[in-house]
Parts: sequence; C-alpha cells; structure tokens
Amino acid sequence: MSALQIKRLYSGKPIHTGNPYLEASITDMGATLALQWLGEPVVQIPAQVLRMRCQCDTCRSGKGNHPHPANPTTIAHIRPLGLSGLRIRFSDGHDAATYDWTSLGALSG
Ligand SMILES: [Zn+2]
Repeated sequence: MSALQIKRLYSGKPIHTGNPYLEASITDMGATLALQWLGEPVVQIPAQVLRMRCQCDTCRSGKGNHPHPANPTTIAHIRPLGLSGLRIRFSDGHDAATYDWTSLGALSG
C-alpha cells in the first residue's frame, strides 16, 4: 500500500476502538471499515461484508431483514465494547451487530 493510500485511509473518521493494538477508521463515506493491527498492514473490510456476517440472534435466526445487494449498506456509527470488540450501527438501521477482535481478524484475512 502506497503512502498516498495510507494518507487517504486515515482521512477517514477515526474510531476509538478501546483496543490499544488496533486503529480503525470509517472510510469511503461509511462503505469501508479500515483496520490496522499493531505492526500489521492496513486492511479494509467492506461494510456490506460486515453486515452480511452479522452474528446477532436476529440475523442468525434468519428473521432479520438482510440487506439487498442493490442497496449497499454503509456504516453509520461504531462504538467500542470495552475491551471485547466493536458494535456497529448500519445505514439500514440495524444496531445489534457486534464483532469481537477474533471475528474482525478473521474478516481481515
Ligand atoms: Zn444482526
């Protein structure tokens, strides 16, 4: 990744993750979550991927209104869950999506 790309990455809205080993920002108007673990290259996770992988009870049971591919979901807000992970509110109003560091790491790979 070039210096220019990294500069653009960090022009995104920075997020307080609560994790000293992880820096994060919302980029591309909420379409992407950029993550950088300490000493690792920056990875970007599309909001749509995060939304589709939501592990809340509603989504896992199939009762949630999953997003339509033609209507891309963006990240509206992120807040830290103490030391355990992040909670993401999406543009479709879904506010129950939580991601621990392990699952974020898996999505980053
Ligand atoms: Zn969900």
